[in-house]
This record gives sequence, structure tokens and C-alpha cells, in this order.
Amino acid sequence: MSELEHLLRSRGYRLTNQRRSIVRELEVSRHLSAEEIYDRVKGGYPELGLSTVYRTLDLLHELGIVRKDDFGEGYSRYELTTERLHHHARCRECGKVIEFNEELMEYLALQVERETGFVTDWHEITLHGRCNECS
Ligand SMILES: [Zn+2]
Ligand SMILES: [Zn+2]
Repeated sequence: MSELEHLLRSRGYRLTNQRRSIVRELEVSRHLSAEEIYDRVKGGYPELGLSTVYRTLDLLHELGIVRKDDFGEGYSRYELTTERLHHHARCRECGKVIEFNEELMEYLALQVERETGFVTDWHEITLHGRCNECS
């Protein structure tokens, strides 16, 4: 039994093929919206609706399997929480999401602590601007 299946079962859910296929898409690509996931999996599951994709993502989010990112686009993007920790920079021209290293943010948090005494235990930062192709 996979770890994912085990986690779902322990909460009383089954790992259906649909749920599995949604997770598989997120294993292949990061920062997908529900609609992008729907477009990719609906070929294999013609009976699958967009609302099911949303419900599945909500469930996976609740179980801590996916991370939900809001880049101010009016919809969320999803990625697996098993990805190494990173932050995002989003291009406002083409919508591309670039990842950057967590350590830079740890350095920043440390600087803030030094200056203000504020101890950061959680941070999530998105940079907004233009990517190298658009700038
Ligand atoms: Zn990411
Ligand atoms: Zn761009």
C-alpha cells in the first residue's frame, strides 16, 4: 500500500483511480490549477467533472497532501507538500511561476529577528514581476 493510500484509508477515504490520477499529475508538474489538472486527466476519465477535481484537491489539501498557493490570479494552484521547500516568483506577463531557494528567506527572517526580535515560524513569500523572457 502506498503512503498516500495509507493516509487516505486512515481517514476513511479510498484511493480511487481518479484521486490517484490527480496526484500523479501533481507528481509530474507543479503549480497546476484545478482546471489544468482537469484538462490533463479528463481524457482518461470522461465521467470526471471539474467539481470533482476541486473536491479532491480540497480533500488532499485538508489531509496535508497538497499545498494550495494563491498568486493573486483569482484561482489557486496546487503542488504536493512532499516537494522540497521553496518560494515562488510569478511573471505577471506570461503567468510563469519560478521557484527559488528557501535559504534566502531564512536569511531574511533571521535579519528581521535580529532587528525587531520577531521570531518567524512560518513564511510564504511570492515575488511578482516579469520573467527573463518578458522583461
Ligand atoms: Zn512551488
Ligand atoms: Zn514571463
